[in-house]
Amino acid sequence: MKILVMNAGSSSQKSRFYDLSGGSLPKTPPEPLWDAQIDWTKSDDGAELKVETAHGATLTKTLQPDSKPAGIADMLRTLWSGDTQVIDHPDQVDVVGHRVVHGGQTYQDSVFISSEVKQAIADLIPLAPAHNPANLEGVEAIERAIGSDISQVAVFDTAFHSRMPLTAAVYPGPYDWLDQGIRRYGFHGINHQYCAHRAAQILSTDLNQLRLLTCHLGNGCSLAAIRDGHSIDTTMGYTPLEGLMMGSRSGSVDPGILIHLIRDRGYSPDEVDQMLNKQSGLKGISGISNDLRQIGKAIAQGNDRARLAFDLFIHRLQKEMGAMIASLGGLDAIIFSAGIGEHAPDVRERACDAFRFLGLALDPEKNDATAHDVDIATAGSPVRVLVITAEEDWAIAQECWRLMQP
Ligand code: ADP
Repeated sequence: MKILVMNAGSSSQKSRFYDLSGGSLPKTPPEPLWDAQIDWTKSDDGAELKVETAHGATLTKTLQPDSKPAGIADMLRTLWSGDTQVIDHPDQVDVVGHRVVHGGQTYQDSVFISSEVKQAIADLIPLAPAHNPANLEGVEAIERAIGSDISQVAVFDTAFHSRMPLTAAVYPGPYDWLDQGIRRYGFHGINHQYCAHRAAQILSTDLNQLRLLTCHLGNGCSLAAIRDGHSIDTTMGYTPLEGLMMGSRSGSVDPGILIHLIRDRGYSPDEVDQMLNKQSGLKGISGISNDLRQIGKAIAQGNDRARLAFDLFIHRLQKEMGAMIASLGGLDAIIFSAGIGEHAPDVRERACDAFRFLGLALDPEKNDATAHDVDIATAGSPVRVLVITAEEDWAIAQECWRLMQP
């Protein structure tokens, strides 16, 4: 089965093509045959398209900035023409899977995209203004490039959290909020779910028997508490702004601060939005960067604000991990994933340090090594600690494969 994955973000469009011939899914993520990425913000002259194929062909091209649909069409053409071609004709694609950030309460599982599903994704734009429009653009670009008969699947970032108990999902505001859809949805669900399945595989244990804490620590950061195979609590809520301190997002702050800024200091809601999403977190506190690597360099040079930013990031992470463990009522494994989770051993060490009272112990050599999809706890630790590479695109491809089975 030939599967194309479309992963549209607010500033990028990532896309991968997998050929899954054979009757069953591979146990570990296979190499995609074609891997393409558009960075819409690369330069003032235009967006940048980069393509790589499994045969070693590469392409870098500047795209005109004015039309995203035209840019996506350009990207798709490299799949069936030019040096990066891996198929002869667009109709060789069997199914296209899309990451859709917000599925609201309607979608608890992946679905084939119909006009009704498209309308539902459009209706949810107010809840994900940076993402759902880009996801719809991707669906329409495929219809134009391949045809409207092609099977397309929506895989929702919110779906894995959609069975959270009401106590985890409802905000203690007026009850009306719930009727208006103002509730906790949670995000990064595709990777939290992937990590849970991969952890069960690595630990050779039935997922339903495991109590897992998954830590997705990238530019955006969230935790999920996973029991009986699904998320029962998570740190992001109505929007991806709640919870942990992140690259440039504040995470949870006292809502009274927002009232004060707007009512007494004259800030507009858009300015507050900008402050909380773009000028906070590691970037806001350090004044240097949203990238943890830059913070590390500044700490080494004795920069106090960088040190505060790192310590604050760790403190918030430990606190929220504690909250998730309380929701789980026990713990079998912690999983670290995404840019920081996979590449920052000092973050893993400090995060786990708070839970030494549980007997949890990291093997320092394994923690410092760069191996992925491995257990880095000591043999005697009652809680396992895993590092798992985020594989959202492969997770989406697996969902397509599952839905396409007769
Ligand atoms: P996104 O959430 O945008 O998909 P990623 O999962 O790629 O982001 O994570 C990006 C972040 O990971 C970077 O901002 C950086 O802080 C962090 N990161 C990546 N590599 C390293 C590294 N070697 N050491 C520390 N942090 C890293």
